[in-house]
Amino acid sequence: MLSLTCLGGAGTVTGSKHLLAHGDTRLLVDCGLFQGLKNLRELNWQRLQTDPAGIDAVVLTHAHLDHSGYLPRLLRDGFAGRIHATAATRDVAALILRDSAWLQEKDAEFANRKGFSRHAPALPLYRVSDAERAIAAFAPAPLHRDVALPGGATLRLRRAGHILGAATAQIDLGGQRIVFSGDLGRYGDAVMPDPEPVPEADYVVIESTYGDRRHDPADPVEALGAVIERTAARGGTVVVPAFAVGRAQSLIHHLWLLRQAGRLHNVPVYLDSPMATSATELLHAYPDDHRLAPQDYEAACAAVTCVRDVEESKALSANRYPKVIVSASGMATGGRVLHHIAAFAPDHRNTLLFSGFQAAGTRGRKLLDGAQETKVYGQWVPVRAEVAELPMLSAHADSDELLRWLSGFRRAPRRVFIVHGEPGASDALRVRIERELGWDAVVPRAQQAFAL
Ligand SMILES: [Zn+2]
Repeated sequence: MLSLTCLGGAGTVTGSKHLLAHGDTRLLVDCGLFQGLKNLRELNWQRLQTDPAGIDAVVLTHAHLDHSGYLPRLLRDGFAGRIHATAATRDVAALILRDSAWLQEKDAEFANRKGFSRHAPALPLYRVSDAERAIAAFAPAPLHRDVALPGGATLRLRRAGHILGAATAQIDLGGQRIVFSGDLGRYGDAVMPDPEPVPEADYVVIESTYGDRRHDPADPVEALGAVIERTAARGGTVVVPAFAVGRAQSLIHHLWLLRQAGRLHNVPVYLDSPMATSATELLHAYPDDHRLAPQDYEAACAAVTCVRDVEESKALSANRYPKVIVSASGMATGGRVLHHIAAFAPDHRNTLLFSGFQAAGTRGRKLLDGAQETKVYGQWVPVRAEVAELPMLSAHADSDELLRWLSGFRRAPRRVFIVHGEPGASDALRVRIERELGWDAVVPRAQQAFAL
């Protein structure tokens, strides 16, 4: 019997982990970290419902932390198989996992120094050495070709758009075909290719981040320009918390287009994220996996100042001239963007601009919900700056685009499982799938097992 169980990424956008089991074979699709609300983050410390040593292989749809960030822990707890993903995903994941492990170690060290952990001593969820083992376990898989997995299973990856390397995963196991959307990108994006259609599946597992929303059809470049120009006219700075991989590169490209159009003169742009700078370099390594010509992204990158050094980053916070600072993390949960928020949030002339999905419980979500103050490094900071959101800059398909991808299937799957969304978003997508396509759709609960 074949079964599907969502060990994470059900009822939330984080912690994606989907287990397929057939006989003795166990395949895990994505292996993400829970983020945001504290009760979610605590799940990272709970024992996985299945023994990691009993998992035969992992398939990774893309490198974002909410899909890959639990991998080092999985290896530490006994997983000894391979991680199947595109070569670009492996390289992006290497950046993300090393950074995550370093942060885990640093947080534990900080908690021990300040003595505020309930555990003595505080331990990191995993270490840099665990991340290195995970990186070494990757087995790069080509697109559009069948790859053999343990237990007689077959994998086929296709482009998902979204971020460099992202793929949908078609898995044949136990005589059935299950297709996982991973995270789907937007159609007609300037940087990433369109999500490719998949012709056939018995079961589909689809994300629903924006399952209840349609993105504003306004031109994202125009909307970005308008926010920057009105902020600069007030003499203010725009701080953009951006996911280091994906959004940061698109923003750099959009800002360059604005400059080409003769706008934003006298408004310098800073990319303050070493990881984003490295991720931008990966565009060179994978020219077929995105839409930018080398001369375009070289020109775009030349128009921004990359800030590598922490001291330089702090000096940027002290500089009061109008400018744009693009810095990670994307949900303002950590990283260098925090000291920029502390420096710029108190002044009404500035703008905090969010361009990606903000999960419940994150600082980004609280600011968008109108928080009057925010706590940064233990200090309360008043928020008087404009707080703006441009969801059309997001790397995620909206609900129309999710339906468009589903319409690529030539016949109705037996069932669609809706994951990777907050409850309202997932349920709104379920209603649309049932009404507009007439397909059976269900929103799984975490740990709920389905016989396929
Ligand atoms: Zn993603």
